[in-house]
Amino acid sequence: MPTSTPAAPLSGGETFDFLIIGAGISGIGAAHHLRQRFPDSRFALLDAMEGFGGTWWTHRYPGARSDSDLYTYGYGFKPWRGRSIATADEIRAYLAEAIDENDLAPRIHYGHKVTAADWSSDDACWTLRVQRVGSGETLTLTTRFLWMCSGYYDHDKGYTPEWPGFEDFTGRIVHPQHWPEDLDYAGKRVVVIGSGATAATLIPALADSVEHITMLQRSPTFFSAQPWAHELEAPLRKLGLPDEWMHEILRRAHLVRNAEVVHMSFAQPEALRAYLIDQIRAQLPEGFDVDKHFNPRYRPWQQRVAVVPEGDLFAAIRAGKASVVTDTIERFDATGIRLGSGEHLDADIIVTATGFNLQLFGGVSFRVDGEPVDFSRHITYRGVMINDVPNMAYMQGYFRSSWTLRIDLACDLICRIVEHMRSQGRNVVVPTLSNGDADMQRLPWIDPENFNAGYVVRAQSRMYRQGDRAPWKHDMEYHEERTVLPTVRPEDEALAYR
Ligand SMILES: Cc1cc2nc3c(=O)[nH]c(=O)nc-3n(C[C@H](O)[C@H](O)[C@H](O)COP(=O)(O)OP(=O)(O)OC[C@H]3O[C@@H](n4cnc5c(N)ncnc54)[C@H](O)[C@@H]3O)c2cc1C
Repeated sequence: MPTSTPAAPLSGGETFDFLIIGAGISGIGAAHHLRQRFPDSRFALLDAMEGFGGTWWTHRYPGARSDSDLYTYGYGFKPWRGRSIATADEIRAYLAEAIDENDLAPRIHYGHKVTAADWSSDDACWTLRVQRVGSGETLTLTTRFLWMCSGYYDHDKGYTPEWPGFEDFTGRIVHPQHWPEDLDYAGKRVVVIGSGATAATLIPALADSVEHITMLQRSPTFFSAQPWAHELEAPLRKLGLPDEWMHEILRRAHLVRNAEVVHMSFAQPEALRAYLIDQIRAQLPEGFDVDKHFNPRYRPWQQRVAVVPEGDLFAAIRAGKASVVTDTIERFDATGIRLGSGEHLDADIIVTATGFNLQLFGGVSFRVDGEPVDFSRHITYRGVMINDVPNMAYMQGYFRSSWTLRIDLACDLICRIVEHMRSQGRNVVVPTLSNGDADMQRLPWIDPENFNAGYVVRAQSRMYRQGDRAPWKHDMEYHEERTVLPTVRPEDEALAYR
């Protein structure tokens, strides 16, 4: 836990230069940048939850861990010192250090949920309606600049599809986003619905304790067995290198590998598919139907490739503690799940590892000069701001690379834009379409041909759009953006300063 003094309570009516919404990895990163670049500014972070970490606070199921390596998921400004893949607790410990090192604890207000944000052009500021989560009391805060670091999904409620008979099941049904601390799974028959990263994490973590655990999937996911640590890590440690060097070398090593795999997923998708499937086949018992259970219909990386550290999921299957069923759900009944094939899966506990509900900008309702903002009618500016929405930045990370790689780049860009605004004696920056761009084609936020995870597809209609040309596009590849975003000039004609 951070050791510095917690924030003094807000009384309402306070005014800030910046308010950051969210104290997850993005919000803490943004606050570090503010500390460095605007040390005299008045800023604070608000988070609806009672602690920091966002995703790593919410997700407390057994075995919760990263899928990415922490050398790229960690910040560029703060070395990671552990194994590449990290547990949720290790990530929170790292974030606690970041809070301490930047003396952020006095600025983070937990249990404060922002429900509405109203921009006034006359006053050049945002007025936020904020609810104290415990008491329900409402207070009002104002800020010159609003920095949305609210992540991409609803932390209050995970996604559970509707199935017939759901109410009839007499055992326990659990969503991993709301894992009950008291859940006793020892000796129980557990069915996990879903085969994404969460299922791949949970199953090996529970396998030794349960009687049996079944991964029930409608269709397969790509998996990649990887060691917890990069193979360079142990030899490098023997050299006694400074932490900063270790971080930079291993970060580059992971980046090169990741770029190769992503490149291959577009250039030679079938070769990558064969590589991933062969890797799995080698870890499963003779005769296991790998094509049925582990060969997805989509292209590798059209959805996330889930990491299986040291092949632990496959070890649980080999040991006979876990199995995979690829089938549809006909209905739930008192004792388990009746499948489309007519088979029945008996269960004491059913875990619905069925994903998230994507939530735009923390569910906050926005108004600009009294007009409600319907984001589906707006366009992103480089994936960091929204056209015609003044003094508001948002943080969205990568899906195919570590989230935080984009947060570091985006924070730097936002700080340069604000620096420029101030140097010009202006108070407002607003991405504005030129006449030439006004009629450009509106494209989905994410091209489903490029990336089509369920939570993205389900939410497309509610999301802001992107255009067909820079700077109105939202790039999803780090190896392209790493050279583009640092060279964006704040004088960009798409940014109007007032
Ligand atoms: C189990 C799991 C594992 C993952 N593993 C990886 C991985 O290995 N690599 C990777 O790149 N990505 C991973 N992701 C994606 C992950 O969400 C991002 O990596 C990253 O944690 C997002 O950080 P964030 O700070 O932007 O948002 P979040 O972590 O979602 O935090 C947002 C914070 O904003 C707060 N908030 C939201 N709305 C409001 C509001 N209206 N008022 C006040 N507070 C609000 C929330 O309470 C929350 O604390 C994973 C996701 C999950 C669920």
